[in-house]
Amino acid sequence: MLFNELGLPEEILRAVAEIGYEEATEIQAKAIPLLLQGRDVVGRSQTGTGKTAAFGLPAAASIDREMQRSVQVLILCPTRELAMQACEELCKFSAYLPYVKPCAIYGGADIERQITQLKKGANIIVGTPGRVMDHIRRHTLHLDCLRTIILDEADEMLNMGFREDIEEILQYVPEERQTVLFSATMPPQIMAITSEYQRDPVVVGVEQKSRTVESVAQFYYEVPMGRKTDALQMLLLAFEPKLSMVFCNTKHMVDELTEELVAKGFRAAGLHGDMKQQSRTQVLNAFRSGRLNILIATDVAARGIDVDDVDAVFNYDIPQDNEYYIHRIGRTGRAGKTGCAYTIISGRKQAMELKDIARFTKADIIRCDLPTRDDVIAKKTDRVLDKVKTYIGSGKYADGEYQLEKLMSEGFTAEQVAATLLGMRISKETRTVPEFIKPVFRTKDSGGKGKSVKIEISLGRQNRIAPNFILGALVDATGMTGKNFGKIDIYDRFTTVEVPEADKEHILDAMTGTKINGQKIKVKLYEGKGADYSGEKDFRSGGRRRDGGKSGRNGKDGRSNRRKRY
Ligand code: ADP
Ligand code: MG
Repeated sequence: MLFNELGLPEEILRAVAEIGYEEATEIQAKAIPLLLQGRDVVGRSQTGTGKTAAFGLPAAASIDREMQRSVQVLILCPTRELAMQACEELCKFSAYLPYVKPCAIYGGADIERQITQLKKGANIIVGTPGRVMDHIRRHTLHLDCLRTIILDEADEMLNMGFREDIEEILQYVPEERQTVLFSATMPPQIMAITSEYQRDPVVVGVEQKSRTVESVAQFYYEVPMGRKTDALQMLLLAFEPKLSMVFCNTKHMVDELTEELVAKGFRAAGLHGDMKQQSRTQVLNAFRSGRLNILIATDVAARGIDVDDVDAVFNYDIPQDNEYYIHRIGRTGRAGKTGCAYTIISGRKQAMELKDIARFTKADIIRCDLPTRDDVIAKKTDRVLDKVKTYIGSGKYADGEYQLEKLMSEGFTAEQVAATLLGMRISKETRTVPEFIKPVFRTKDSGGKGKSVKIEISLGRQNRIAPNFILGALVDATGMTGKNFGKIDIYDRFTTVEVPEADKEHILDAMTGTKINGQKIKVKLYEGKGADYSGEKDFRSGGRRRDGGKSGRNGKDGRSNRRKRY
């Protein structure tokens, strides 16, 4: 439907045209006429369907010029980013209505400055419930002339524990008012708010076959425990998304992953609730402008972040809630573009969780194999060669000619120099590409025979490590069974494990870069006393008594329990 069929004033239509919206989205077409009539509305539609304009355009249109210095509309949003974003959009919507003055009010920012802004006569307030409450108590925000209150992302505000704040705010608002609520989902708590605070509300919803948008293709990858970062790196290298968002379940994981990706040379930054407002804003601006192209975030921090060009979403941790999955992947495939969502899972538990998500969302999530190291290297190599071809004759690196002549005068040929330089350049680009070795599955009894050697793992008693953590990690990373491993000796600073000699390379490779108990480890062949031990006797004899297979599983459980604590 066209915007000019909805009853919006001329000034607003002009602004909308300028922003570039051609047709109203379904939720806009349904909600705008009702809101303009002053009805209470409950709007339900998924992320990315244009809810901000659905309530923002009528809100801007509703401002009464006669009382332009009073707050007339209050919009509550769950996060600072959402509040800022919605406020920016309202400014655009009201570009041709100079007396409409939106103002964002959120925690973590200077309250004095907000007070000044309020005093200047803001008439649309967009804020987070906590800070709005704060201003009400300080008598710096007066709501006695309020005519409309809008709860944006109402479900998320309730999830975040804002219910009490919201109910308190509603007590300061005149009874004679319009109450509007927008939400991606309609859990029973929302319906409770609706029946308590709204008057004869009209529910407008957008039905959807699948709960995820069709413009997002969804894939998943199963990787060994402890290799998710490598897997993510591989996907980033292979697909080279221009802008991508990576989701983790905890702030801790966001920090850790950010650090790892930055160390590997990616332009990544983290976003979570513990960060100062200023650095959050900086990160978001850098991401919007493309200076950063990977944003690593928690669900709450990323809620509603509106960047249209995100072409890939990665679920590094599987979302803790089915709805979160929908919100996460809704960050891509927006505004008429397509996007991809990749979920990385490890272990059977996560596989089950993902299956549950697929059932809930009624979406196809397609299983894929990770790109191989060779694929990525071939791609990077082509890239280097293409660049060289483009630059030849462009004069861009012409300075090199002088250096080349110097080397040639020392007796090297141009071919030698060129080949070496290409080799160096390609190696630089591909050095950090991780390797995934197909797990070797051994038969039950192969572990007990043959020679063994010891490997040394850089965690010991000091790191509060237990044998089943070590065994669990070995089993996860190598794909071998608990029975393949022999005696585990834990020393203060390191641990040794007897492993079959024939598999030592594979084991060292597979263990490199993994983590045990959340701690990065180093592995190498053990060179200390008894390093030449060759398990002539029973490979598993001696040392701690344990049942190989069973403690292998315990190891895994131990690790996943620990992960939850992040
Ligand atoms: P929601 O709140 O439902 O998640 P937003 O209001 O954030 O969605 O809008 C998502 C994106 O779609 C924004 O970039 C917005 O500018 C854009 N958008 C909204 N309405 C339209 C429209 N009618 N035509 C084109 N793009 C639109
Ligand atoms: Mg929104």
